Parts: sequence; C-alpha cells; structure tokens
Amino acid sequence: MSFDPVQVMKGQDPVTSSPAANGESKGSWDDSKELYENMGTTTKPKSPKPENAVTIAVSSRVLFRTEKEQKVFEQKGVEEYLRYQVEHENEPFAPGPAFAFVKALESVNTRLRELYPESEELFDIVLVTYNHATVGIRLINTINHHNLFIERFCMTGGSSPIGYLKAWHTDLYLSADEEKVQEALAEGIAAATMFMPEKLTEVSETQLRVAFDGDAVLFSDESERIFKAHGLDKFFEHEREHENTLLDHGPLKGFLEALGKLQKKFYAKGHRLDCPIRTYLVTARSAASSGIRALKTLRAWGLEMDEALFLAGAPKGPMLEKIRPHIYFDDQMFHVEGAAEMGTIAAHVPYGIAQKHQHKKSNKTAK
Ligand SMILES: [Mg+2]
Repeated sequence: MSFDPVQVMKGQDPVTSSPAANGESKGSWDDSKELYENMGTTTKPKSPKPENAVTIAVSSRVLFRTEKEQKVFEQKGVEEYLRYQVEHENEPFAPGPAFAFVKALESVNTRLRELYPESEELFDIVLVTYNHATVGIRLINTINHHNLFIERFCMTGGSSPIGYLKAWHTDLYLSADEEKVQEALAEGIAAATMFMPEKLTEVSETQLRVAFDGDAVLFSDESERIFKAHGLDKFFEHEREHENTLLDHGPLKGFLEALGKLQKKFYAKGHRLDCPIRTYLVTARSAASSGIRALKTLRAWGLEMDEALFLAGAPKGPMLEKIRPHIYFDDQMFHVEGAAEMGTIAAHVPYGIAQKHQHKKSNKTAK
C-alpha cells in the first residue's frame, strides 16, 4: 500500500476519489454533510454503548497524515494553523499509520453484526483530537471520503484527553504524542505511540491481525529488570526457577483480553479457523527455557494466542514482515524501529525499565 499525500490533497487519489472529496466545487461540503446525516438514519449501524463495546481511541494525527498541517502549526502558530485548516476543509487527509487497523476493526464489526445482529459487543472507535472544533469539518469530510464509520469525536481544544478516555471506557488509546500515551498508561489505560513508517506493507482487509511483544507489554517488566541488571544468563536462570510462578500483567493485557472476548463470539458460531481476528506473540524469549513461563501465564489468564513466536534474541522485523499485522506493540524503541524499517505498522508502549535504558536506532523520539 502506498499513499501519496500530495495526490490525495489534490483529490486525485485513484482508489478513493469521489466528487464530494475533490474540493473543487462549492457543493462538496454540502454533499459530505448530507451524506453524513443520511448515514446516521439509514445505512449507518447504531453505535454500541461504551460499557458494552471494545473502545479504541485514536488521535487524528495517527489515523490520518497531518504532517503538513503540523508544520504550519509549529512554524506559524495556532491562528495561521486554524485558518489553513478552514481553507483546506474540503481536502481530505490521507491515511495515517492507524488507518488500516481502524479499517480492519470495522470489517470485524461487519462480520459480528451479521452473526449477532442485536449484540453491542463490537469495536467502537473514538476520534480523539486536541484540535479546536473548527477543524472538525475537515475531519468529518475526511471520514466520509474514506468511508469510515466514526461517530464519536472528542475535540478537546488543546486540553488533555485522559479524563475523556476514562469516561469512554477506553480499551486502547493510540496517539502520536508520547507524553499523552504515558499519562494514559499511568491511569491504567492500554496505550501506544504510533509513527508514520517510511513504507507500508499491504495488510489483510478481511482479518484483523494484532501482534504483541511479551515482556513489558502483555506482562510486567519484572523479568526484563533481571535481564537489564544481570544479563541474559541470569535472566534464563531466573525464568527457569520461576517457571511455575505467573508473570504479573502488563499494560496491554486488557486489550488482548478484549480481543479474546470477541474471538470467542466467532468460535461459538463455528468460525475458529477462519476467525477474522488473529493474535500473535512475538517475543525475544526462547521457547525451551524462558518461553514456557510466558505460555503458562497466558493459559492461567484464560487467554489464547493464535501464534507464538519465540525468537531467542533474533531480530523481530523479518518475522513481522511475514505476519503483516495491522499493529505490533513493543516496549523497546529498538524493536519498533526495526519492525517499521521493514514496513510493519509498529507502536511503542512507553512502559517499564526499558524506557530508562533506551536503545534506539535514531533520536526521532528522544526525550
Ligand atoms: Mg519487551
């Protein structure tokens, strides 16, 4: 998949171009508005209640590409930025790093609605943005242009979205802002930072694939601490000794649980082998020694992983390139960047001991 933001900005995206989106005619906004309003009453499915749904909050900067606008904001200030957004409100943003993930969530929802027409156990997507409400028009235009079903908007006008995330019962928060992600994690909300990769591998449109690192992502960083303090041999020894002691939970455990809950709904209707949600554990642990503790912990939690890859320290990039996940979570920037270089959509979970010993390939997110 390759996106040319310039083409899309000109409204000439060959795949998704539509008259309502090219920004040339005065009527395009009216068309979009009419379409959006009609969708609310006719073709658009009802949104589930937040307490029943698996709520995914995404920021506009990871759902769409907004680098150009970001530059205007940084170089010319907020007034110039708002003027720019209003002037360009009929030009849709191009897809960003979380776009394919959100599309896949929607296709899972379509399948769930077919199997369980009355159920509210679905993914629900909330667009969270620090933007002022005036930018909302461009965001709604963009959502309509790309045929996304996002009804919930949270436009905070510059203030922190963390309180809203709790109110929405958020199961996962994806943002470009590492500080906000850390704030969310500190509140016990699963969260990760996303970046725009150089290249994007094509991903499945019918099966949602989510890949997780183990330590300091699904599990706590207790074993990672042993490794950092005493090295690999001590780590293996420690893990063997504690093979039957469960690992404590990490920041993304709840999200895996939520995925598992939806997977079971497909299994119950005979769709285990062709389940539209597939999960992967991609860990640097090695199978024979330290892997068993990870698997025993997952089993004790009642969580199934469709595939588990124990790489024993080998690079994760090539494996992830084969899996082609819609998102891969890791606590170490080194792995996130290694995966992203090979085209994987990787997200950083800034949690645990690894944040103190960042081993980075670049200083893009240095702090
Ligand atoms: Mg880790």
